[in-house]
Amino acid sequence: MFKKTLLATVMTLGITISAEAADKWKIIHAGTLLADAREEAKTEQTIVIKNKKIISVSDGYLSASDIDGADNAEIIDLKDQYVMAGLIDAHTHILGQQEANSREKRVTRSSQYSTLMGVEFGMRTLRAGFTTIRNVGGDRNAIFAYRDAVNNDLIMGPRIKAAGQTISPTGGHGDGSNGYRDDIFPNPHTGICDGIESCRRAVRTQIKHGADHIKYVATGGVLSKTATGTGQQFTDEEQIALIEAAHAMGRKVAAHAHGRIGLEAALRAGVDSIEHGSYLDEGTADLFVETGAYLVPTLIAGYTVERIAKERPDFFIPAVRQKALDVGPMMKKALKLAHDKGVKIAFGTDAGVNDHGTNGYELVLMRDAGMPERAILVSATVNAADLMELTSVTGTIEAGKEADIIASKADPLEDIGTLMNPTFVMARGTEIDLDVPRPADLFPWPEGY
Ligand SMILES: [Zn+2]
Repeated sequence: MFKKTLLATVMTLGITISAEAADKWKIIHAGTLLADAREEAKTEQTIVIKNKKIISVSDGYLSASDIDGADNAEIIDLKDQYVMAGLIDAHTHILGQQEANSREKRVTRSSQYSTLMGVEFGMRTLRAGFTTIRNVGGDRNAIFAYRDAVNNDLIMGPRIKAAGQTISPTGGHGDGSNGYRDDIFPNPHTGICDGIESCRRAVRTQIKHGADHIKYVATGGVLSKTATGTGQQFTDEEQIALIEAAHAMGRKVAAHAHGRIGLEAALRAGVDSIEHGSYLDEGTADLFVETGAYLVPTLIAGYTVERIAKERPDFFIPAVRQKALDVGPMMKKALKLAHDKGVKIAFGTDAGVNDHGTNGYELVLMRDAGMPERAILVSATVNAADLMELTSVTGTIEAGKEADIIASKADPLEDIGTLMNPTFVMARGTEIDLDVPRPADLFPWPEGY
């Protein structure tokens, strides 16, 4: 009996090992290919993929026999579709989303459960055509475990770069214990800091545990359960200290910022990206151009909170509802102004505020704000990859990069909303099953989408 089991195990192992050793070839026939969103699309193109990586992109439709070693290649026919690089969302909170009784869940939910929520929300994001995300704040243990499992190919999900806990002052926008009794929520998380030394330590603590980048709150925020407005929270000195601490350890810094004074303080302190940027003006835009920082506009977050505040007056506490009504309408104007002034834009949604998987609606809102389609596609591919230091890995379809590839029925340069329902998604060489019904959204999309 023992011998038989042992033999079966050896045989199984043998099969597994040989199957793993074989290269997987895939050949995509792309009717129209926008390989790099900055350049013109080409028709009748062939993309050859070996395992995770793109081997070549060439004119015409090649067959398996045209490619050395690719005899058993799978042919993927996208001849009647528009093919482009996988989209990148540079602002997500993948471990959760708005839900009823969120206060209770905040003190009862385990890190482990948050990780598993991330796995599901990540798949919804991936099926929406987003093959890479930058998570900007969330339970540190949960997000690093999820990120590592995906990036080590243990489970499927979008490629993840993660910040760990949001760095916030006590009582600030990122202090999750706001409004709770001390005995219910006794220990603020490791991202809470006050003063220069404390803020350096908070940054270094995230890096010690695995942060790819740092996220901090330069100003108040809409959804924090306090009536503290959306103005500057950290002092100039604290912002300088925490950005220096992050840069010294080779980490980029993202600053959440709505109010103009706090936003400009973050830019002057040397931040790499401003998230939201709701109250920026012409002078702020000039400062962006001068420092080279990216704006991550998150229009769908503004759209979602404004809509909730109007349609469901009891959903938010009064302090949050007022901030939602004030900030929501500002964001589109801010994006238009920033784009016209030449500010670098990287696509980001704040997904978690909106339901995961609805990320593509941000593209439509950006167009409605007055940004041209091509610039929007550049922001969601090339620019977001640049911000995340992934230019050599993703953002365009070219030899040597990983195979993050999506397709749509219509030309996204003419009808950007077509990307809300991608017809094909490949992440790191693996085709994703799109035939999974999306759960009912908490806040259904507008009609027509
Ligand atoms: Zn956010």
